[in-house]
Amino acid sequence: MNSSIDLAIDLDEAREYLLKLILKAGDILKKYFISGKFTSISKGGVDILTQADKEVDTFLLKNIKSKFPQCSFLTEETAPGNYPSFKEKDNLWIIDPLDGTINFSRHNPHFAISIGLVNKGIPQLSVVYLPIEDKLYWAQIDQNEAFLNGKAIKVSATNDLKEVVLCCDWGWNLETRLTVVRWLKKINASIRQIKCMGSAVADLASLADGSIDIYLHSNLKPWDTAASSLLIEKAGGKITTPKGGKWNVFNQEMLASNKILHTTILDLLSKNVENQG
Ligand SMILES: [Mg+2]
Repeated sequence: MNSSIDLAIDLDEAREYLLKLILKAGDILKKYFISGKFTSISKGGVDILTQADKEVDTFLLKNIKSKFPQCSFLTEETAPGNYPSFKEKDNLWIIDPLDGTINFSRHNPHFAISIGLVNKGIPQLSVVYLPIEDKLYWAQIDQNEAFLNGKAIKVSATNDLKEVVLCCDWGWNLETRLTVVRWLKKINASIRQIKCMGSAVADLASLADGSIDIYLHSNLKPWDTAASSLLIEKAGGKITTPKGGKWNVFNQEMLASNKILHTTILDLLSKNVENQG
């Protein structure tokens, strides 16, 4: 399966387990979403969390830990400040119990649960669930495709810049938001549409299934990308840093694309906007 690392994890068995577990986690989110009975708590700055984030974080951590006690864990709600040092770890489960908490708290159904197994920043297995939209995605390093509700998915076939639907988002580190503004200044006049949908996990899954063509972000966390990046790779897409460098899940800046347009976007991003008149 993997020549250099003894995973000691049967990926097929793990996937089947997680596909069931993530549906149960989704039921917890649905209960809160439908009832509207939760309070938002500040995480400092402009970010928030709710009881639903915490309950699902605890639920997933407890269950996956008991199933895979030999593994390491990184969850959004329990991550230590030194989590970037986890990039050298193997058999690391990275979990976001609720990505798109602002959408969730405003009764917008675009949010997701993300579970990824990572070795040294390279995803091995990913399961993503959008409970209200009822979209269940998975991908695995030893398979050639990514799947949505049991069917293989492909990134878009868009090859004309004028038809591009791009999605970006804005980090909780407010200084990094200006980086996105600078990127958009170089791209915005060349493409069809710019969206901001509010859940990196769900948005990146949307790139994998062809709903959008390009995704740009300047302040991602490993729990945003551990699972969703493997969906994109296995659906035929491409991910690099916005400068074209090698990317892994501990990189904060990302350019993800349907592969066809990747070089074109990199070329636009590399231009000095002041010289474009
Ligand atoms: Mg979250």
